[in-house]
Amino acid sequence: MSHDSWAEPWKIKMVEPLRMTTREEREAAIRDAGYNSFLLRSDDVYIDLLTDSGTSAMSDYQWAGIMLGDEAYAGSRSFYHLVDAVHEVYGYEEVVPTHQGRGAEHILSQILIEPGDAVPGNMYFTTTRFHQEHAGGHFYDVIIDEAHEPDSLHPFKGNIDLAKLAAVVEEYGVERIPYVSFETNVNMAGGQPASMANLREVYEYCSANGILVMLDATRALENAYFIQQREHGYADTPIHDILREICSYSDGATVSSKKDNLVNIGGLLLLRDPELARKARSLLVAFEGLHTYGGMSGRDMEALARGIEEMAASDTHVRSRVGQVEYLGDGLIKHGIPIVRPVGGHAVFLDARAILDHLPQEHFPAAALTAALYLDAGVRGMERGIVSAGRDKETGENHHPKLELTRLAIPRRVYTQSHMDVTIESIARVHENREDVRGLQFTYEPEELRFFQARFEPVG
Ligand SMILES: *Cc1c(COP(=O)(O)O)cnc(C)c1O
Repeated sequence: MSHDSWAEPWKIKMVEPLRMTTREEREAAIRDAGYNSFLLRSDDVYIDLLTDSGTSAMSDYQWAGIMLGDEAYAGSRSFYHLVDAVHEVYGYEEVVPTHQGRGAEHILSQILIEPGDAVPGNMYFTTTRFHQEHAGGHFYDVIIDEAHEPDSLHPFKGNIDLAKLAAVVEEYGVERIPYVSFETNVNMAGGQPASMANLREVYEYCSANGILVMLDATRALENAYFIQQREHGYADTPIHDILREICSYSDGATVSSKKDNLVNIGGLLLLRDPELARKARSLLVAFEGLHTYGGMSGRDMEALARGIEEMAASDTHVRSRVGQVEYLGDGLIKHGIPIVRPVGGHAVFLDARAILDHLPQEHFPAAALTAALYLDAGVRGMERGIVSAGRDKETGENHHPKLELTRLAIPRRVYTQSHMDVTIESIARVHENREDVRGLQFTYEPEELRFFQARFEPVG
């Protein structure tokens, strides 16, 4: 079947009721939450765009798999189904299951990184960088400059800058660089893809120098979609084949299955070298579980195997997924609301600095906008600005990130087009009355990862 719409390739069989709240109830809820969206109860939220992690809706085929999961401690049938699905869709030979993405990052960092090593990567992801540094590595950001510009329309803002990479190799020497950490559809840059040409070029450069390339393939499916849409020569290539080609330019990958893979929990460490896989499995049994379950139950693995098959079975799934994100972004652009462009694969980012230009960054515009949005119609986003950036460890001063954003991440297969319309209307209303939004100040500031548990009150 061929049509131009991103319309969903599924219909709804089971529904989950949502609680509608009044303005008064939301005022009480956000006050009780210290104006921090992380501290709201989900029962007080109407449309929950806090994260797309572990919030996907599973299909009837996956739910049927939950009943069929084999809970054998060793050699579970569901594990072998998972291995087959990975071979078919990603193409890596060695499959090491973990409880979620950070479990895979932990094992990979421990088997490859020695204290004092350098690990170049494109921007960073919080848990990925934590595990690299925890193993004694130094992280170096080698993403292209455009990734840090909210207004740059570069189609592949996730690309690695080869000159920056070569400079790290020059400084450290190849023997101190265990691998290049290459994230697909870079989360912290707004869900921005890398091009196939860049993936190929980085792999060729690294292979020639004896350096491994490890993908963070958590969002490789969404990256494959953007390659199909934007890169010369791929318009007629099926997503399945593009995804396989992306993975072919690497020696392994970590995957958080809570994103592309359409399940609520799970992760994967995928490798080609059997010797490396042997090392990984010997740590796995200490930190995660036996090598045929690694922290997942049999039914989790069965649902995951089916989710992996389903996401790549045809192009319609990812087209509809990214199509819905673009629908939300385009609707906001039509209302003249400043957002990060191009719209990414998993989320729309509101430019809070531009929207609330009467607030200094010290009054936390993105946190204030996130709270104002919740108050208006019960839509929950997440602050990604000065609060998330934290303080400088040495000087104690706030970091002042260029990007001061409210993130609206879209769960997969969960909300409808009318939910997106409500979200657009609500943001347009907040935007119209933006002069009324007051800044916030801390009443409680945690020392580590302060954005999760900080509490605020309106300024003045
Ligand atoms: C979510 C995520 C992770 C971490 O995975 P968890 O399953 O949450 O542990 C790593 N990398 C990227 C790009 C992610 O989006």
